[in-house]
Amino acid sequence: MKCPFCGHADTQVVETRMAEDGDFIRRRRQCAHCEKRFTTYERPDVTFPAVVKKDGRRIEYERGKLLASFHLALRKRPVSTEQIDGAVERIEEKLLNLGVREVPSSRIGELVMRELKKLDKVAYVRFASVYRSFEDVDDFKNVVDEIRR
Ligand SMILES: [Zn+2]
Repeated sequence: MKCPFCGHADTQVVETRMAEDGDFIRRRRQCAHCEKRFTTYERPDVTFPAVVKKDGRRIEYERGKLLASFHLALRKRPVSTEQIDGAVERIEEKLLNLGVREVPSSRIGELVMRELKKLDKVAYVRFASVYRSFEDVDDFKNVVDEIRR
């Protein structure tokens, strides 16, 4: 499998894990060239559910948005990139396990808050107070941007 970061063809599986319900296999790979790690899911026809925003629009799930939100929320907090990756992976597993074609963005927001709570209490408390006003990951990011300003 090609490295998504540098395009190098040689990547190695460093960890293989069956998801809790056994529906798919998660592989952690490492690039032999840039040494970055990434995760692949092995499942028949794996697709994340579409995200339904509050206004009814459907958008594609994007891992990058989720990652960006975590990194913003946890900036300058003692939480490693690996821990954030783990949180995003747990959320993705939950999304896949839902077995649905669409998921409300608020549901993803709840999952984000749950992971944030486990990662860093300070960040969680800080963002829990504004959580009620955010409807999806985009809104969450906006709120975080505002707080950081
Ligand atoms: Zn690479």
